Amino acid sequence: MNRQKSIRVLSVIPPMTQLNTPYPATACLTGFLRSRGVEAFQEDFALGLVLKLFSREGLEKFRKCAARKRTKSVKSFIAQFDRYAKTVDSAVAFLQGRDPTLAQRIGTRQFLPEGPRFATLDAFVAKEGVDPLAWAFGALGEQDRAKHLATLFLNDMADVIRDAVDGRFEFARYAESLAKSQPSFDPLAKALAAKPSLVDETLRGLVREAVKKHKPDMMLVSVPFPGCVYGAFRIAQAIKELDPRIATVLGGGFVNTELRELSEPRVFDFFDFVTLDDGERPVLALVEHLRGERTRDQLVRTFVLKQGKVRFIDSGEPDIPFAKTSAPTWDGLPLDQYISVLDLLNPMHRLWSDGRWNKLAVAHGCYWRKCSFCDTGLDYIARHENLPAKVLVDRIEAAIAETGQTGFHFTDEAAPPAALKALAAELKRRQLAISWWGNIRFERAFTPELCRELAESGCIAVSGGLEAASDRLLKLMNKGVSVAQVAKVAKSFSDAGILVHAYLMYGFPTQTVQETVDSLEYVRQMVAEGCIQSGFFHRFACTVHSPVGRNPERYGIKLVPLPPSPFAKNDVGFVDPTGGDHDALGKGLAKALYNYMHGVGLDADVRSWFDLRVPRTTVKRGFIARAVGR
Ligand code: SF4
Repeated sequence: MNRQKSIRVLSVIPPMTQLNTPYPATACLTGFLRSRGVEAFQEDFALGLVLKLFSREGLEKFRKCAARKRTKSVKSFIAQFDRYAKTVDSAVAFLQGRDPTLAQRIGTRQFLPEGPRFATLDAFVAKEGVDPLAWAFGALGEQDRAKHLATLFLNDMADVIRDAVDGRFEFARYAESLAKSQPSFDPLAKALAAKPSLVDETLRGLVREAVKKHKPDMMLVSVPFPGCVYGAFRIAQAIKELDPRIATVLGGGFVNTELRELSEPRVFDFFDFVTLDDGERPVLALVEHLRGERTRDQLVRTFVLKQGKVRFIDSGEPDIPFAKTSAPTWDGLPLDQYISVLDLLNPMHRLWSDGRWNKLAVAHGCYWRKCSFCDTGLDYIARHENLPAKVLVDRIEAAIAETGQTGFHFTDEAAPPAALKALAAELKRRQLAISWWGNIRFERAFTPELCRELAESGCIAVSGGLEAASDRLLKLMNKGVSVAQVAKVAKSFSDAGILVHAYLMYGFPTQTVQETVDSLEYVRQMVAEGCIQSGFFHRFACTVHSPVGRNPERYGIKLVPLPPSPFAKNDVGFVDPTGGDHDALGKGLAKALYNYMHGVGLDADVRSWFDLRVPRTTVKRGFIARAVGR
């Protein structure tokens, strides 16, 4: 009998990613591999690391390192160490939702020790004579108030880790600068050759436990952001020390955007294979390779090291159709241990960091795929494939059955209106009650009727790009919307009871100071008219994969030549002859928007938010009111 060699595959989430819910890559790959009969498992090392560090035992360990450092955070931590040690496990259990009755005690501000992160609360009281927590949470928002205080408590301890244990540690990222658009591997190689910090040692302990438990033949490390790269390489390093026969594979969003031209052989001291774009097909090919059913030259979209040189191998086999990738599974992840945090008092930020959302996609890629600042040439945007509503709702039902949770975050870059309409109809047909939120484009197709249907189907929030809020720049961006249209569509969502968050941008090529001032005026009017409730101004960054990066002259800019790059390549500097002082303008935009979201300063002249002299807005008063038909 011809028996297939069994290959055990472990997929892992490296530190740091979000802590309130699992990052979707391992759930998708594990679900897919199991559907193909492969023994597959998963571990979340980002969560595992935080739970180990933020425990009584973890605190004892970093107290020893802290004794040598004397920053404000460290001094406060040492002075109150007994209280930290006594309360840390309870505070974490509270943030995990396992001990909600603790809210009352946390709310007294006598239970948790308070370090420098709490200083802003006291400063606010001293300056304004108002308790900002009472203002934000009212008399009945006890759970949220306690969640915010417990989050500040964790942030204080994260500052101590950064100051005393490992200067690269942050909650959302670890050693990001070693990887982000980093042309040379040298900084990362040097950091990996250095003595491991307590954070690294803790991570290594997690790897050891996982290998013992799952006995993998292959370890997949999916790296979504540059802030996970160092952790990913530390994981691979630990694997190679434990058992070099375990095949290590690197993939994920960071690889797909930044390592497309990889030629650095030292990466292969840690990883045997580096795969590009969606993982399903390349990983299946690797499983077959390890079973001896396929040669190395028959791999799919995979970098390998051959005779000391990096080679890209691609058999050209097509991707697994999105509808055939199977439902994700969260089996094996400690779903009751995720930590919900509440640090910024921004309603959309809250959805990102608070609550255990099941992550699914409505479609693959972006149906629009034309915006000039976006990575429109890359597979995760360019390959658009719809999922029939029936299949999507089957996945939703499977996720609820497995996790017991009915909240969904649709991770699409821009979910198509027709697909959302079909989803709402299918949910109604099956009488399925869920809550969901995700990204959209402010398309005309989102009529008031459709917005109401979506709200009825469980939509609680949408986010979409208003970008530079200027009709000239929206055209140059090929965004396919105008300011008036965005206002109208956003108002339809808001009127249906759906929270609207706008992605805003400044510093786009040729953007003038006048346009930036006008964009703030549009935003002011949109908040005042109830079109949007939340927003964030991002500084434009030019990437090599975007239309702007590929054809800079069309956008009136010159790129700063990049050095030869055997490693990461993504962001590229540029010279814009028309540009104003975007750094200085950015501060005013952020300040204004923060206040607008709290209903403050909506009557003030937008010039008042900037520290530098700026021109008066040219946007007519009442422009947005007229656009939404008031
Ligand atoms: S910015 Fe959004 S809408 Fe535009 S192409 Fe990219 S993903 Fe699509």
